[in-house]
Amino acid sequence: MTLVGVLALQGSFNEHIAVLRRLGVKAVEIRKPEQLQNVTSLIIPGGESTTMAKLAEYHNLFPSLREFVKIGRPVWGTCAGLIFLADKATGQKTGGQKLVGGLDCTVHRNFFGSQIQSFEAEVSAPEVASQEGGPETFRGVFIRAPAILEAGPEVQVLADYPVPSNISTSSDSAGEEQKENVEQSKVIVAVRQGNILATAFHPELTADTRWHSYFLKMANEIIESETSNSQLQVQVNINYSQKQLNELPIFQ
Ligand code: GLN
Repeated sequence: MTLVGVLALQGSFNEHIAVLRRLGVKAVEIRKPEQLQNVTSLIIPGGESTTMAKLAEYHNLFPSLREFVKIGRPVWGTCAGLIFLADKATGQKTGGQKLVGGLDCTVHRNFFGSQIQSFEAEVSAPEVASQEGGPETFRGVFIRAPAILEAGPEVQVLADYPVPSNISTSSDSAGEEQKENVEQSKVIVAVRQGNILATAFHPELTADTRWHSYFLKMANEIIESETSNSQLQVQVNINYSQKQLNELPIFQ
């Protein structure tokens, strides 16, 4: 059975672990570089990417995280986790912040605005819906959410989202880079590039387990192709029930 690590420095790591538990998958908290050796895949949760980067630096996690991504281990970043995985980020605090990288894209750190501009919306992700079943759209919880402004040729877009009309005039808080005018009508909010999955929103804060299920299957395929050891297969509960959808998201 696969062992999923969840980076547990800050942010919504408990919520990811709880969803995985509901799917019958064991997850462990990762706080030290050596702990990455024990897991077959990794989730980097949402939170505050600058703080998370400082903590990761303090615990000397960057070299091991980069290695984990580089050798092709399955990794999923949600929100701040997406920022971590991007090769390039804009809208950073003065002085910038360290990134793990690996995902060939440019992400704007607070694209949708500040905390009070956080929102929930239905997001269409046809590839994930067709694999996982259930409704065609997903509840997207966007909290000080980033967006991908540019993505390289290897990046598969799983979901995009219309740019809110006020976005070109809004700017980050003092000390942060001003947002450039955005000319595109849509931005990318979910992608896959090989072993990397990234979402700008927080599936772990909803009752819909399909993104976790999607990641576990993706991880399973990667691990299976690496090894013939059948013990590494993930047992994922793919049954998606309408009842789960009707539950309120944890985030309100
Ligand atoms: N924009 C935030 C950051 O820079 C991420 C927000 C989130 O993870 N909910 O870290």
